[in-house]
Amino acid sequence: MNGTIRQILEKYRPVWALNHASAVMGWDVETYMPEGATRPRGVSLSQLSLLRQKLVLELAPFVEKAGEAKDLTDMEKGIVRVLKHTLDYYTKVPPSLIEELERTVTEATVPWREAKKKSKFSIFKPHLTKIVELKKTEADKLGYKRHRYNALLDQYEEGLTVGDLDPMFSRFIPPLKRVLGKVLAERRFPSEHPLEAVKYDLDAMRRVNGHILKLLAMPKNTFRMDVSAHPFTTSFAREDVRITTRYEGTNFKATMYSVVHECGHAIYELQYDRALEYTPIAGGVSMGIHESQSRFWENIVGRSAAFVDMIYPYLKRNLQFLSSYDAESVYLYLNTVRPSLIRVDADELTYNFHIALRYELEKRLIAGDLSVSDVPAAWNDTMDDYLGVRPKRDAEGMLQDVHWSAGSIGYFPTYSLGNMVSAMIRRKLARQVPIEELVRSGKLTPIKDWLRTSVHRWGATFAPKELLRREFNDGYNPDALIEYLQAKFVG
Ligand code: MG
Repeated sequence: MNGTIRQILEKYRPVWALNHASAVMGWDVETYMPEGATRPRGVSLSQLSLLRQKLVLELAPFVEKAGEAKDLTDMEKGIVRVLKHTLDYYTKVPPSLIEELERTVTEATVPWREAKKKSKFSIFKPHLTKIVELKKTEADKLGYKRHRYNALLDQYEEGLTVGDLDPMFSRFIPPLKRVLGKVLAERRFPSEHPLEAVKYDLDAMRRVNGHILKLLAMPKNTFRMDVSAHPFTTSFAREDVRITTRYEGTNFKATMYSVVHECGHAIYELQYDRALEYTPIAGGVSMGIHESQSRFWENIVGRSAAFVDMIYPYLKRNLQFLSSYDAESVYLYLNTVRPSLIRVDADELTYNFHIALRYELEKRLIAGDLSVSDVPAAWNDTMDDYLGVRPKRDAEGMLQDVHWSAGSIGYFPTYSLGNMVSAMIRRKLARQVPIEELVRSGKLTPIKDWLRTSVHRWGATFAPKELLRREFNDGYNPDALIEYLQAKFVG
């Protein structure tokens, strides 16, 4: 190993430990922490974050020196790349701006919730205005080529630009509109299903979710599942990955697919090469690639007819109310297609329209081509254009997502990248592995192994675009997604 890299990794250990501690504490906040403990936890987390920043900044001269070395391995290059990216943020964005951003989004939380509850944009508007201004300043400090929004995209998906996203969305919107039109006309996939209103027994549902963990061969001694208000995955270490789900009491597919989805994230975090542990390149490389893993398991495997046929007998034995529904009917319930106003409820086919809309508006807001006052109208018009539905209240429109109030501008597009990459994975995997046969017989391990070899093992060794080029000989390409959705929904 390169001597400077060895020094970097030694100095990085305490940073890893701080990340580890913050992750455990953050998980606890969402799962078991008593509500009254919010304040001390917040103080502690922000102190740890300052400490981490200080330690990372101390790495700067070493990273610079390592960056000049000519003989680095892929792994060593990855370490330098990832640390440079972090250092770049800390050196270009002044602490006063970071602090102001943090304060502003913290102050926006309650007004956003109230605005959503009362469906009153005016309550959130001054906060959003300030957040957009600060994000513009942040982007200007970071610097960018061509489009200011690129600087923000790069924080969630390294190297992602408007130049990637514009052609991608404009290429998949028209064909997906045609597929949706056909699905709605043919009516094989229903827009509503009686099972959506059926209540489930909590213990029975816990058993079903436990069965899914077994099917996915989630390791008992390095993984666990708990309950939280919003399902999520977090990784403390390669040997300690956690997911959560929630039980709403009705519409059992919601909790079931949240488990499959989060397991997809978890498998990625459990399967990177052991050699990467404790380094800056341990774990998933980006939000988009991460989401490709969760969407692959949730949609491409979990919502397939083969999966439903395989799991149907178990579901029927454990969920009494399924006695009068056959496997085909359950498959259609799990695959309802409905142009709706709410992103988180959207199905596999309509989901990307919700993202395209948010992308357009964010891009224009950050460029200064759209004012915050004009967002609700622009939102409603675009919904109408894409899905033929129009929000009557802003709570069902631009107030629905937490992201903007949290300052997460540039995050949404990674959801669509995930869908697109999941279909690229399916296309390549299908050439090498009999997916349907394996899923039908409940043998999912060969698929997990394939994902480990092709994607997981690298961790963040390669930037997302480089990973796609190496493993798929492609970029962010929507063709596989269009092909997959077309074949599934209209045949
Ligand atoms: Mg996810």
